[in-house]
Amino acid sequence: MNKTDTITKCLSCDSTHLKAFTTTKAQMHHNEETFTFVKCNNCGLIMLNPRVAQESLHEYYSDYYLPFRGPSAWGQYAPLVAKNLGKTDKKRVKIAKSAVSIDQNSTVLDVGCGKPTFLKKLQEATGARCKGIDFTDEGWKTETDTYRNIDLEVAEFHQFSASKPFDLITMWHYLEHDYQPKATLKRMKQVAHPETRMLIEVPNFGSWTRKLQRQHWEGYHTPRHTAVYTPETITKLLENSGWQVEKIKPYGTLDPYPLFWMGRQEKRGIDWSQSMEKKFVGFVAGMLLTAPIFMLKKWLPAGIMTIVARPAL
Ligand SMILES: [Zn+2]
Repeated sequence: MNKTDTITKCLSCDSTHLKAFTTTKAQMHHNEETFTFVKCNNCGLIMLNPRVAQESLHEYYSDYYLPFRGPSAWGQYAPLVAKNLGKTDKKRVKIAKSAVSIDQNSTVLDVGCGKPTFLKKLQEATGARCKGIDFTDEGWKTETDTYRNIDLEVAEFHQFSASKPFDLITMWHYLEHDYQPKATLKRMKQVAHPETRMLIEVPNFGSWTRKLQRQHWEGYHTPRHTAVYTPETITKLLENSGWQVEKIKPYGTLDPYPLFWMGRQEKRGIDWSQSMEKKFVGFVAGMLLTAPIFMLKKWLPAGIMTIVARPAL
C-alpha cells in the first residue's frame, strides 16, 4: 500500500463535514486497490480522500498509462490519432484569443504546461510572450530547441511569483490534479491584474456521462484527480480564492467521447497495457453511434467544461 494523505477539511470551503460519496478502483491501472471520493456537506465538492501521498503518485503514471503512450498506442491508426491531438491545441488557441485580445505585447502563463505544445502554437499565432510552469521539466527537457521561444520554469505553483502580471492564465486539465487548489488560485491572483482572464478546463461532474457511468466515469481518473468539479462547486472554489466566474461553457477543447469510451473500457476491465489497435474500430463505431447525443453537448453537458474567470473586485 502506498503512503496516503488524509484531508480533514474541504479543499474549497474548509468545512469538516465530509461524507463518503463513492468508491472507485484505480483507473488506467492494474491493481485491485479502491479509493473513496467524499462529498463536502457544505459546498458539495467531491474530493478523493484519503489521497495518495504526492511523492507516491508517480506509481500511477506507469509506462502503459495511455496518455503517455501517445498516438503509437493505436498501432496502424497512430497518424489519425496524432492528427486529432493537434486539433486540441488549435481549439485552445482559439478560446484563448476569444478570452482576451492577444498580441506581441501580451503575456500568457500556462499552469501545468506539461509538453508546451499549446504555448508554442499560441506564440506562433500571436507573438505573445508565453511562459509555462510545471512541477517537472519532463515535458520539455529533451526538446529545448523546439520550445526556445517559450519561457519554461519548474515551479511550486502556490509559491510562484513573477515580476509582471499576466494578461491571460490558462489551466488545461490541471486544476483537478492540484493538492491545494485554493492556494494555487490565490497565488495566481497575485500574478494577475484587474483585467486578467483565467481559463480553466476540467472534467464536469455534473455531466450525463458521469451519472450514467457512475464509479467507472473516467473523469475521476482515480487516484490522480484530487477533486472533481461541477459548475457550482468550481464557482465557489474560485470565489473562495479571490476570483469571480465570468462564463462557464458546458464543453471544452477535449472531445468528451474518448472520456466516455474509456469509462466503458474501465467497466469491462480492459488491459490498459495492450495495443489499442484492435480497439480502434469499436472506438470509431461507438463514436458514430453516440455522435447525435454528443453533438448536443452545449445543452446536455457531456463531461468537460471551460471556465472563464477574472479577479474579484
Ligand atoms: Zn466545501
